[in-house]
Amino acid sequence: MIKTLNKSFWTIVLSSLLVVSFATTAQAKTKFITIGTGGTTGVYYQVGRNICRLVNKDTKKHGVSCKAESTGGSVYNLNTIRSGDLDMGVAQSDWQFHAYKGTSKFSDKGANTKLRALFSVHSEPFTVLARSDSKIKTFYNLRGKRVNIGNPGSGQRGTMEVVMESYGWDKGSFKAVSELKADEQAQALCDNKVDAIVYTVGHPNANIKQATTLCDARLVRVDGRPVRRLVDDNSYYRWANIPGGMYKGNDKETKTFGVGATFVTSADVGEDVIYTVVKAVFDNFDDFRRFHPAFANLDKKAMTKDGLSAPLHPGALKFYKEAGIAPKS
Ligand code: GLU
Repeated sequence: MIKTLNKSFWTIVLSSLLVVSFATTAQAKTKFITIGTGGTTGVYYQVGRNICRLVNKDTKKHGVSCKAESTGGSVYNLNTIRSGDLDMGVAQSDWQFHAYKGTSKFSDKGANTKLRALFSVHSEPFTVLARSDSKIKTFYNLRGKRVNIGNPGSGQRGTMEVVMESYGWDKGSFKAVSELKADEQAQALCDNKVDAIVYTVGHPNANIKQATTLCDARLVRVDGRPVRRLVDDNSYYRWANIPGGMYKGNDKETKTFGVGATFVTSADVGEDVIYTVVKAVFDNFDDFRRFHPAFANLDKKAMTKDGLSAPLHPGALKFYKEAGIAPKS
């Protein structure tokens, strides 16, 4: 009896020790990564959250634990990946291009030669929404109006500055400018603090839905001659349409130009981590696409190359080769 008791006692002690030591090793090995996104009413936040949800399903197996953080947007994400404070982030294809080449907004800092691409995501039309009572119909009509040009660090702020410059405008061309974050702008529009807001964003999204539901607001055409020149001269811009019927009071399609959302990192982030993240998304692709209507038309092969100016991270390329979807070099 005593012998049996003793035996089971030691079995319990030993197995608890083993469990504890396994748990500690697993924990010590867990790699925590953070993804920079955008405002919580945008689509980047949904990209980050969905990637993390798929990665975190198997943390016990691969040891990577992922967190998505709301941030100021593309330019903030690119700068913070460069400084090493973010592991990965979502960024517009135009700003990815400039960060990698050290042009436009990034000319002071110079080229970030360590910037690496994982994949592209949804299209992002440059979206201008105006109060119906402002009578703004085209981008040109913004002149002399109260416009929220976006927070510094956001992709829309950067792209808005490029469009303003192409029209020969500066901040003084408007009656008033504000620099509200994306999450604050629907309320400002409907409180009649501004006449129009801009947002480079996938559709449909909660932000534009909020504004068009709260008050009478119309999407504005952005297709004047200066914009045509921008699209003709730069590979990272393309024509885009915001379909009619997506938002209240906006039954007709709206013509504008746009960019693509892309997912980027640094060459300093390990190959295994990037491989794990890419595999989590591509092996659960239908699940990923179902998560948000802006992802519905995503195509695996196109995602490995469209809108990517920085080289693919070796961890991503490894997965694409295994899956037979690597872009031809
Ligand atoms: N394109 C925006 C930016 O770069 C963010 C859009 C979003 O959050 O979906 O800041």
